[in-house]
Amino acid sequence: MNHPRPNMEVPILIERIACLFLEHGGERSEGVTSLEHALQCAQLAEWAHAGPELVAAALLHDIGHFIDRTPVPEHLDDAHERCAASFLAHGFSAAVVEPVRLHVQAKRYLVSTDRRYAGTLSPASAHSLALQGGSMSPAECRVFEAQPHAQDALRLRRWDDAAKQPLRRTPPLEYYLSLLAEVAAPRLERTALGAPDVS
Ligand code: FE
Ligand code: FE
Repeated sequence: MNHPRPNMEVPILIERIACLFLEHGGERSEGVTSLEHALQCAQLAEWAHAGPELVAAALLHDIGHFIDRTPVPEHLDDAHERCAASFLAHGFSAAVVEPVRLHVQAKRYLVSTDRRYAGTLSPASAHSLALQGGSMSPAECRVFEAQPHAQDALRLRRWDDAAKQPLRRTPPLEYYLSLLAEVAAPRLERTALGAPDVS
């Protein structure tokens, strides 16, 4: 995937992310809200001593659900990871964007390579797995493994699956927003051609 030059002012980007969580973070699925799921995922990344980029990716991995609000029929894949990656690429490096973009493929990979993994998926994850392409062929697994951030995506996926514990205590969103501000790429000077500004 080609990453566009980061071109969103960091405070505007962080504000937009905060607004997205404020507007949609209360939506409930599998016993937790979207905000709780994101915070738990980021907390698990921190507990595993992940670097700040991967903690940011953990927090933001499902933000695509907040951005593209087009209703998707039950039998279709919503491609939320691609929507998230396109949005995040305007303000974050590949170390944040790529694990997010790959977190669905990571599930397909784990189902194909870890016999016990499929049995650990929640009913919703098992349902979406089928829509997302199901298990990978050996050739698809090799393509996945060759991607630069595949290992980070696999770590993220494990935290994602575990980040559904009702009533678990986490730091507040504000704590992670500060981390995002540190990790976000500063605005770069435009070239003569410039990159499209999506802010
Ligand atoms: Fe997801
Ligand atoms: Fe998730």
